[in-house]
Amino acid sequence: MTRIYPHFIVAKFGGTSVADFDAMSRSASLVLADKNVRLVVLSASAGVTNLLVELASGLESRLRLDKIETLRSLQYNILSRLKQPEAIGQEIDRLLDNIHRLAEMAAVARSAALCDELVSHGEMISSLLFVEVLREQEVEAQWFDARKVIRTDDTFGCAAPAISAIAAMAENHLRPRIEQTLVVTQGFIGSDAAGRTTTLGRGGSDYTASLLAEALQASRVDIWTDVAGIYTTDPRIVPQAKRIDNLSFAEASEMATFGAKVLHPATLLPAMRKDIPVFVGASSNPSAGGTRVCRDVATPSRYRALAVRRQQTLLTLSSVNAQPAHRFLADTFAMLSRHEMAFDLVTTSETSIALILNATSATSGEADTLTTALLTELSSHCHVEVETGLALVSLIGNALSEGAAVCKEVFAELENHPVRMICHGASRHALCFLLPAQFADSAVKALHRSLLE
Ligand code: ADP
Ligand code: ASP
Ligand code: MG
Repeated sequence: MTRIYPHFIVAKFGGTSVADFDAMSRSASLVLADKNVRLVVLSASAGVTNLLVELASGLESRLRLDKIETLRSLQYNILSRLKQPEAIGQEIDRLLDNIHRLAEMAAVARSAALCDELVSHGEMISSLLFVEVLREQEVEAQWFDARKVIRTDDTFGCAAPAISAIAAMAENHLRPRIEQTLVVTQGFIGSDAAGRTTTLGRGGSDYTASLLAEALQASRVDIWTDVAGIYTTDPRIVPQAKRIDNLSFAEASEMATFGAKVLHPATLLPAMRKDIPVFVGASSNPSAGGTRVCRDVATPSRYRALAVRRQQTLLTLSSVNAQPAHRFLADTFAMLSRHEMAFDLVTTSETSIALILNATSATSGEADTLTTALLTELSSHCHVEVETGLALVSLIGNALSEGAAVCKEVFAELENHPVRMICHGASRHALCFLLPAQFADSAVKALHRSLLE
């Protein structure tokens, strides 16, 4: 079959790019500037997901009504600027009523499934409003429910996508639509096999965009946000941070994994699998350019960027009886695996294992991996120590595990920083260390000054 749009682009707009009517109008103009943009993936308007997460935590009635009112006025501010608000007014009211009802249910008994159902309303509302903004600019656009194609498992709050099911469903339900008109859908949300709403973790709209690009073999993913690209570190921490014009998938993927919030940690995985370039730019200032992420970068330098991940927990497990190291490691990891505990960095010694748990990604914001059942079982097998209030700082670059001077150049700058744990050598692209959270910004500033400015 010949495809009408063989080189189509998936464009994703984050919360600030759909925060109000003016931002939505600017984003709509960007969509219209390139006829290859056929699929638009949207986040909820800025602030909405946070409000919904609070409602899902089960608020008492006064606070609940306050939050719902804040949310209603945020969305009505956009609705009232439409020329014909009545076209979708009823539907928006129905969704706001739903939010009310679900928030009442959460106050009685909260759950991760209920939280996902509730927060999905943010993306539902922003996508309905955006379609109307486009229609008022005389553009034919169809609204599409992403849950029809983003099939996930039932890990509410941080669901894993089912890649081949998504490919098949996108081909059947989405491809025919994008051949007809521009399609607008929601990021972040999906559904499990039973049809229940799930979410891909905070910031998950980036991931939706790259998953759909993979499923439909798009030629590019454009991530429109509030920064003109990916910088050497978060410009909120270091104002001197500079935009990196070209990044490899490996570099950008490490940055995202280790906390560069500009991209959801998993965004680059589908792009890498199908070799789809990703562009990151500012929707409020498209002429400023942005960052292009693709397979390779010509002669990249050793030091590229710094990232921070906050709210880290360190779990240290020490052997209490004199069993051989290999048995202690094998038994402990088997136990962690039975409890499906997610961790990503590990160091070990002869008699102990230290693991970093990351509590930042799940939609409900709860680190539910360290369950009482797991702690009880671990305690019967070894000595357990849990430390919280830590941050992980990561230096991203190339051949980091090979340079003779890397450790000296990094740690000489951190003389006054109580580094708690170091992970170096497993990845050629990242050197990570853990330290008390209050030292993270000063470590990033010091390293940025000496290695990246
Ligand atoms: P969106 O709502 O558009 O998805 P996010 O707030 O999720 O936007 O991501 C954009 C933010 O990411 C920026 O405002 C910036 O503070 C932060 N950020 C963190 N690290 C970086 C980095 N290395 N480069 C650019 N922005 C970064
Ligand atoms: N609205 C969701 C969040 O705030 C998803 C996203 O913005 O990407 O986390
Ligand atoms: Mg984001």
